[in-house]
Amino acid sequence: MRRTNSFDVVPQSEQDEAVLRRLLDASASLWNQLTYERRQHFFAGESVWDSEHYYDEYVDVLGSATTQQITRVNDAAWRSFFETVEKADQEVSPPGYWGNQADGRDLRTYIRNDAYTISWGERSRLEVPIGSQLKDEYGFGRAERLRVVVRGEPHWQGDQGRLHLTYDDVDETYRAHQPVTVSDEGQATPTGSDVAALDIGANVLVACTTTAGDQYCYSGQEPFRQFRETTERIADAKAKLPGDQNTSKRIQRLYRKRSRRRDHAVNALLRDLVERLYDDGVETIYYGDLTGVLGEYWSVKANLKARTFWAHRQCLDQLTNVCEEYGIEVAATSEAWTSQTCPECGEREQTRRHRETLTCPCGFEGHADLVASRTLLEQSTNTAVRPTARPVRFQWDDHQWYPVDGDAVASNE
Ligand SMILES: [Zn+2]
Repeated sequence: MRRTNSFDVVPQSEQDEAVLRRLLDASASLWNQLTYERRQHFFAGESVWDSEHYYDEYVDVLGSATTQQITRVNDAAWRSFFETVEKADQEVSPPGYWGNQADGRDLRTYIRNDAYTISWGERSRLEVPIGSQLKDEYGFGRAERLRVVVRGEPHWQGDQGRLHLTYDDVDETYRAHQPVTVSDEGQATPTGSDVAALDIGANVLVACTTTAGDQYCYSGQEPFRQFRETTERIADAKAKLPGDQNTSKRIQRLYRKRSRRRDHAVNALLRDLVERLYDDGVETIYYGDLTGVLGEYWSVKANLKARTFWAHRQCLDQLTNVCEEYGIEVAATSEAWTSQTCPECGEREQTRRHRETLTCPCGFEGHADLVASRTLLEQSTNTAVRPTARPVRFQWDDHQWYPVDGDAVASNE
């Protein structure tokens, strides 16, 4: 199984930072030159594979291993592009540049799996190779590598893959992403045979019911407030642009900030939920297809909100990844009618939804998203489910999801 460890990289002096920056910038420069030439050839209908003369130009700064590694990653990007072109009938774009003309190059690089070392400990360190020219300029010994401090915990142990180093110009931090191949031994397995169903939505990000009768509900209030706030700042910044311009560095930053905060909340949510379900003995999780959630039953406004907020594909990938860690199965299921079916009598047409509440002429009244997850679960497992306790409700405080009492999952419409 492939997993990824991510951690912060912290140069310990201005000089080390300068070296790291040169390494990343030269890598991006190599990538972009290679990409430019290959795109020219591609659009002229020529072969993209004759590009070996860049090696000599970069080897003194990047070193041999990294120069080759960047070229290989670029090769792989083109190979996968050609494979997609053959398979897909839709338009696909050839590999693109790292960065753009207005904002400059993206600082990043790839370090070959056997060319770097990380020693974990009280003061964890990463060592990466640099070229002879950098060594001379900055007074490194012949065999010396650049040494930086790393912060974070390695989540996964196993055979290390090529290291991806990036610079985030919003946070002004360097990050490392390390793929590792882990063995199947030590893989968590479910402790029970319960099933859970998730309803993914807008006001409540995720509502969940399990066959044991547990219910969880994660409020979208705070994540949406942040998302909306940044969206407004983007609109303001756009309004102030000169007429001939449609974006700016500031606007791009705000977009990235908005996505990053959302991803933080969503990733933390999925992990919190899956760990909870694992402890509950859940072995299978069903999730509704979001297109069902966004049916006509919803207001246009709620629809738009949910669509903009949820990066759906990415969210499901993350759900699958976290579940895989715990050995939990994930399956999609149709969610037709689930958000408007009465769980007591099965009525679909006459039920009414107002904000969070679903009411039925039979007298039933309940939290619409929780009801939807319950109905989804009943349909997927073909068994009746009885909620056993009060649902546990969670709010986001920018760091973690914490349980709250009572009706704190208020509408943020
Ligand atoms: Zn009813």
